[in-house]
Amino acid sequence: MKKSNYPSVLLIYTGGTIGMIENPETGALEAFDFDQLIENVPELKRFNCHINSYQFSSPIDSSDMEPALWAKLVKIITENYDLYDGFVILHGTDTMAYTASALSFMLENLSKPVILTGSQLPIGMLRTDGKENLITSVEIAAAKHPDGTPIVPEVCIFFENHLLRGNRTTKINAENFNAFRSYNYPILATAGIHIKYEYDKIHKADPALPLKPHYVYDTNVIVLTLFPGIQENLIRNVLQTPGLRAVVLKTYGSGNAPQKPWFIQALKEATERGIVIVNISQCPTGMVEMGRYETGLHLLDAGVVSGYDSTVESILTKLMFMLGHGKSAEEIRQLMDVPIAGEITKA
Ligand code: ASP
Repeated sequence: MKKSNYPSVLLIYTGGTIGMIENPETGALEAFDFDQLIENVPELKRFNCHINSYQFSSPIDSSDMEPALWAKLVKIITENYDLYDGFVILHGTDTMAYTASALSFMLENLSKPVILTGSQLPIGMLRTDGKENLITSVEIAAAKHPDGTPIVPEVCIFFENHLLRGNRTTKINAENFNAFRSYNYPILATAGIHIKYEYDKIHKADPALPLKPHYVYDTNVIVLTLFPGIQENLIRNVLQTPGLRAVVLKTYGSGNAPQKPWFIQALKEATERGIVIVNISQCPTGMVEMGRYETGLHLLDAGVVSGYDSTVESILTKLMFMLGHGKSAEEIRQLMDVPIAGEITKA
């Protein structure tokens, strides 16, 4: 292939372990410069691909990631959209699944790959997982079908040999290289000697539709996890928080919750005040079915809506996205049924 025909990838460095180095005085890992990071991966120069980079002026640990920075990523991708064939975002693993979920909603009509990756060990360390993750992510971001269209036109996380749909992914391991899992949607590709794509599972984009970036969000949302013995005053206090607009209720099993009258009443009063309450399960695998047990039916009566098989990261960012667009509680309740970017399984 002629060099001028090489695909081009924009590498966006936000921070995270992949680019960290040990502070010799404190022993803590701190973010370091992108050029130093790239020096540790000379292999990138051997790619049949043009790679340019953009780095956050102060790289962050992803625990400091914020919706305003999701909007910044959307802006960077939008401004560079026509110049590149794909995008790789280097990101800390801790909140990577939130960023991937948010971007999947904020980049409407995306028809190019946006691949998030990072590592569990800094790239300068001998046994780092960062090199493989970075190199394969670039390869996926540049990969095209024979007709020139991108193979993976969606927001994904690539980690430890697996390509996963971003808004289906959860961090599950703080130690092992195998840190992410997509419980309710199949793997999109596996990297071995070759990268094996599961073409029928990958989103089909329409490149004729122009990218529509979204920058608005509303963070007046909370996650409430049920547990046996949860107290009425605590639940009532949460639901009466001034400004609260939506609650992700993490229930048991297939979407079940206590039947105590005070509990159902507290939820009912909140939904009547215009708070959207979405039911997702504490079980990472499977789907909320509120009609299955009586304990779930009470929730339906209280106006709670199903989050189907959403991850917590996906449902939370989807609510922020919808609330930010000024949708009413009733509209949002109805729209919970409709996948925006393949984030729920609907028969
Ligand atoms: N604390 C780091 C972060 O999320 C962990 C990592 O990158 O793996 O930024």
